[in-house]
Amino acid sequence: MKEKSIMAKGVVVLSILIATAAFAFQHYQAHARTVYDVYWNGAYIGTVSDPGIVRAWLDNQTRKYAAQHDGLRLHVDASLRVAERRAYKGAFDNAGTLRTLAQRVRVKAEAVRVVIDGKTVAYAPDAQTVARVLNAIKASYAPELASPKRAVTIASRAEENRATRQVSFVERIDVEPAKVDPREVLTEAELRKLLETGTPEPKRHVVQPGDCLSCIAARYNLTTAELKRLNPGLTEGTLLQIGQTVNVTARRPKVTVKTVEEVTVVETMPFAVEVRRDPHLPQGETRVIREGKNGQKRVTYRLVKKNGALVNKELLSQAVLAEPVTKVIVKGTKVIASKGTGRLAWPTRGGRITSGFHYRWGKMHTGLDIAGARNRDILAADNGRVVFAGWNGDYGYTVILDHGNGLRTLYGHLDRIKTRVGAVVEKGQVIGVMGDTGHATGVHLHFEVIRNGVKVNPLRYL
Ligand SMILES: [Zn+2]
Repeated sequence: MKEKSIMAKGVVVLSILIATAAFAFQHYQAHARTVYDVYWNGAYIGTVSDPGIVRAWLDNQTRKYAAQHDGLRLHVDASLRVAERRAYKGAFDNAGTLRTLAQRVRVKAEAVRVVIDGKTVAYAPDAQTVARVLNAIKASYAPELASPKRAVTIASRAEENRATRQVSFVERIDVEPAKVDPREVLTEAELRKLLETGTPEPKRHVVQPGDCLSCIAARYNLTTAELKRLNPGLTEGTLLQIGQTVNVTARRPKVTVKTVEEVTVVETMPFAVEVRRDPHLPQGETRVIREGKNGQKRVTYRLVKKNGALVNKELLSQAVLAEPVTKVIVKGTKVIASKGTGRLAWPTRGGRITSGFHYRWGKMHTGLDIAGARNRDILAADNGRVVFAGWNGDYGYTVILDHGNGLRTLYGHLDRIKTRVGAVVEKGQVIGVMGDTGHATGVHLHFEVIRNGVKVNPLRYL
């Protein structure tokens, strides 16, 4: 009986247990749910009810960045793992998990690093962008390489033929893949500005009370001279106006374009001057016996420039197109004594005396009138120095010579004077042309001899 009852009890207990288990299973089944644990770089950060929530959040993040950074390849920079778990009354915290994600997740751009001489200077979207910018900078110093059409135009100019043989950067420029914050990636235009001027955006300074040129320069790490170069029109004397903006972006290019050009130009060869001495020509007189003429040569230079500034010029070849013609000058060396001999020569080529040294029409005729000469040359009667040459009233154009021995001779009514005051003339030298200037009745020479200031009869000396 006892056993039976125990048995029966056992059955009861067992059935209760079974019932309880069944109930618990049903209860579990009713209260169990699948949740998703989110791991960021291996570390648990939270549980969500649906993996789609995390995926949607990530998509949204990259979309947001992509809109701000057009054309960049973006991705989430780390591993995100979502593990499915079925748990009794499985707890989850969607909002909390996304908050934690937002703190940790960084969207990175797949960009390139521009490295100049080992130093990272910028990030760019891709290697093609960098290449385009570098080519544009090169082309700005070698336009004919960028545009063959222009090269033809230049080459067709006769005087100058310019060809760029080589264009390169002085610096070593490397482009390496990099994952960076999209905000650090420069656009193509910004990259070009940075490489060409040293800064992606020009800076301007707004003048404050108390500002001065050197104060502003110092503040932006510029010299006053640089600041003035950046602001043409700004000088030491310029009064700065409060609120005025001043360009404070120094141009410090990150890259240096080295160009090697060959330039052919036609250059002038200046003529030489040769001076020959002539013992037959009086000292102090010069005569040009051949005019000089400049020559021409075609010269080819190799020019090395850095960012457009000439650093080296080398002569490659030259060909003479036209030799210069030497100018030849004859310089007189003949020394003429200004002291007369005392014996006077006849002052014309032949001719006769038409009026002597005598009273005429009630007054003294103080010289000789000579006419009818073979030509109209008037000759110095003796060596001497010209003391007068010009207009002399009734005498017309007149030359007076001082022979340095107490004698002077005068030549009047000249048509033209062929000497000048101070000139030393030689006996027999042409000093003028016979005429009828002044008070004269016809073409003749009025010739006087003055001895120590007294007019005397020339015939005494001729
Ligand atoms: Zn006379």
